[in-house]
Amino acid sequence: MSKETKKPKISERRRFFTLLAQNAGLGVMGGLLWTGYAEKAKSAPLTLRPPAALNEDDFLKTCIKCGLCSEACYNRPSNIDKETGKQRPATLKMAKAQDDVTIGTPFFKPRDIPCYMCEDIPCVPVCPTGALDPILVTNDKHELDPKMMDMGIAVVDTNSCIAYWGIQCDACYRACPLMDVAISLEYDRNDRTGKHAFLKPIVHMTACTGCGMCEQACVTQKAAIFVQPREVALGRPGDHYVRGWDTKDQQRIQNRVDKDVTTHDKRSSQKAADYLNTEVEY
Ligand code: SF4
Ligand code: SF4
Ligand code: SF4
Repeated sequence: MSKETKKPKISERRRFFTLLAQNAGLGVMGGLLWTGYAEKAKSAPLTLRPPAALNEDDFLKTCIKCGLCSEACYNRPSNIDKETGKQRPATLKMAKAQDDVTIGTPFFKPRDIPCYMCEDIPCVPVCPTGALDPILVTNDKHELDPKMMDMGIAVVDTNSCIAYWGIQCDACYRACPLMDVAISLEYDRNDRTGKHAFLKPIVHMTACTGCGMCEQACVTQKAAIFVQPREVALGRPGDHYVRGWDTKDQQRIQNRVDKDVTTHDKRSSQKAADYLNTEVEY
């Protein structure tokens, strides 16, 4: 066999292995891209769901991404702009790839469009799977009750809220549909000037629905009051701490798992000086 005939064979082999490597590379790259995409497809922890949504894990298992809630939100009669007579964009959006929310699931961004706490909550009963559960917003009189919504809780950043600087602003307070119940203004003396007062917005966690009307109304460049899911915004004291005057808290004690945290751990039975720095070589 001549060199001429061998050469193409070597180059074919090389081409074959090059292609193989390229394909393997593409496969790895595809895998990485897919992993990145799948990560992106997961919802960011700050995602706000529609009224009466199940907890996030159950919601994701139950929502079939049909969009009926968002459609009902868009088509509600109160969504007609009085000036133009046209429908405005809906509060509830169905997530797209760029949204940082599980694709196809409903969410809302209050700074853009808050939830208006519609009297008849039209987005909830239309859900065919119970991902939005009417029971969660039904009161003792068996009526849908917007006050029972729990989409999140408004948090005030007291460093950027200008009312905490002593500048008069009550935009969030006035925007709240549950004024003086979910949010109130607390009078405080301004010791720096001695003659001015602060009127500080305070959110009441048991009443706030997370509708976000305060967030949308906030006058600062980036909202100084904003809604976060309760899981993100609030701490959890655990069942070991009970407010004696609170009957709900007293019931919590029944969930308490009795565990002596001071003696079970070998380390904790020693003094700190006995085990700290034991592995440090001087
Ligand atoms: S209650 Fe909120 S989310 Fe539901 S339809 Fe009304 S504005 Fe939309
Ligand atoms: S109506 Fe229910 S199932 Fe359909 S997208 Fe909305 S939450 Fe999901
Ligand atoms: S989110 Fe804001 S506007 Fe809505 S209930 Fe809570 S404090 Fe009021």
